[in-house]
Amino acid sequence: MCGIMGYVGSSKAAPILLEGLAKLEYRGYDSAGIAVFDKDINIAKAKGRLQILSDMVDGGEKIEGCMGIGHTRWATHGEPSDVNSHPHYSQNKTFAIVHNGIIENYLKLKNELMEKGFKFVSQTDTEIVANLLEYYYNGNILDTIIKATSRLEGSYALGILCQDDKNNFYAVRKDSPLIIGLGKGENYIASDIPAILSRTRSVYMLEENEFAIISSDSVKIVDSNKQPIEKTVRTINWDVSAAEKGGYDSFMFKEIMEEPKAIRDTIHPRLSDDSIVLDDITLTKEQLEKFNKIYIVGCGSAYHVGMVGKYIMEKHLRIPVEVMIASEFRYCDPIVDEKTLVIMISQSGETADTLAALRECKKRNARILSIVNVVGSSIANESNDVIYTWAGPEIAVATTKAYSTQLTVIYLIALYIADKLGKITKEELKQYITALRKLPDQVQQVIDKKDEIEALAKKYYQSSNVFFLGRNYDYAVAMEGSLKLKEISYIHSEAYAAGELKHGTISLIEDGTLVVSLATCDKLFDKMMSNVKEVKARGAVIFSLAKEGNKAVEQESDYVFYLPDTFDMLLPSLTVTPLQLFGYYVAKARGYDIDKPRNLAKSVTVE
Ligand code: GLU
Repeated sequence: MCGIMGYVGSSKAAPILLEGLAKLEYRGYDSAGIAVFDKDINIAKAKGRLQILSDMVDGGEKIEGCMGIGHTRWATHGEPSDVNSHPHYSQNKTFAIVHNGIIENYLKLKNELMEKGFKFVSQTDTEIVANLLEYYYNGNILDTIIKATSRLEGSYALGILCQDDKNNFYAVRKDSPLIIGLGKGENYIASDIPAILSRTRSVYMLEENEFAIISSDSVKIVDSNKQPIEKTVRTINWDVSAAEKGGYDSFMFKEIMEEPKAIRDTIHPRLSDDSIVLDDITLTKEQLEKFNKIYIVGCGSAYHVGMVGKYIMEKHLRIPVEVMIASEFRYCDPIVDEKTLVIMISQSGETADTLAALRECKKRNARILSIVNVVGSSIANESNDVIYTWAGPEIAVATTKAYSTQLTVIYLIALYIADKLGKITKEELKQYITALRKLPDQVQQVIDKKDEIEALAKKYYQSSNVFFLGRNYDYAVAMEGSLKLKEISYIHSEAYAAGELKHGTISLIEDGTLVVSLATCDKLFDKMMSNVKEVKARGAVIFSLAKEGNKAVEQESDYVFYLPDTFDMLLPSLTVTPLQLFGYYVAKARGYDIDKPRNLAKSVTVE
């Protein structure tokens, strides 16, 4: 999820690795480390800021050797700690590796290797890759890497040193980025361009399942049959700031573009053919049966995820679900006891009000399940169970990919509990699993139509009021769409349950007011259109979001954005992306600093 840097040349590697890693600090990380080949492979690593590592090794001067790999970690498996930091040795120190990504089948592989006598020192998924290399090692390093990676499921960018090769290091990737920098008498790998930009602008983009063998004066790239691949050298013209954002103008936009991958990373490891696999949860069927109430607690966007959760869980579980804003919940003397399941949602895992609410519930013996993006954060540590969102670090203040992955975890929890309690049939579950697998590609289809949203934003960016209407799930997503617009474009907007508008707020609709109508729920479509008619009659301009093939929506709408078809319950994942994009394009048209909206902070650690 975070940063990789590798170097081979005639200069001391350690200071160059540290310098490269420093350029990746903007991505966020929790620990850092380097491995350098001298006579042996030496590793230095530490939890915390890169400066701690740098001080440990005297800015790299203490470490001899001209070839090495470095890493900044953003933990997904195992808390941030010295021992979980990368690089990781294989058991006999034949290999040392750095890894970005998630190995989905790591538990299976770990058990397999443990049966063969391998010992593990860390809790990471990464260490199994190091030991798998050692297990398959037959004296031919490339063959070994090809064999070992063929066993891996999930995402990985790997930098690999082998004790038996003092001239070359190795790299491979699948679903995680990695580039190769080309210098004069020296070469590099990096997960991202800024790491090497001050040293070279000539790069190879390593593609899926290409294997690179890198020495100071050559870079060979082969496929899994060891056939050489001809690569074109790309010249990078970006400046550092553009490079950090992957060439985009803001982190927010980059993070929206990352949603399909983030959603895939969050759901895939947790789906089997016929069940939801939540290894992270220790709740038994008996414990689940005893819950008579569920609370979902969060702030801001996390609270909106909870709103979606309420609709889904009440429908499928038939258990009352209450969604509460954390700052209200903690002071309302909540009625929770050992029969209550409390789901806490927080991107950072440090949101002060959510943490305080959690402690309040624990005092009353409630069972806490949290949905958190940052491993080892306070909320994660203090919960009974945690499901990580694996969205990767989120830098923009306005959340996008973290919100989207929180939603998918809500689906997983709802289906998991429904299955355990026998509230859905195996056949229904299988259909949901098929639909969940499609979700990342469907979000990509929505993103591919972003020009439509941009055109609309360019027309309406001067609006002073915008309304978002929806019913059921659509209402919950309307809340999030409205918040996005407010947060970054500073346009006043409100989200309303569509049937509620006529009880007062409709008085604010005037000629030309933009109304975003979320009309994706089949069973409520006609009701929704009646509400749209009401505002249209008062002069509103209607922008509707509806499912593909729904021509009826066009009669009442000035603009329609069509969404791919899926179960109603999963639609929030598709509906929210155009709304995030709308907020982004409007803010851009108004010339605002999208990543640092006024008065807001990323992680709200005050009450
Ligand atoms: N999954 C690995 C870990 O938790 C790699 C994390 C990363 O990409 O930084 O150690």
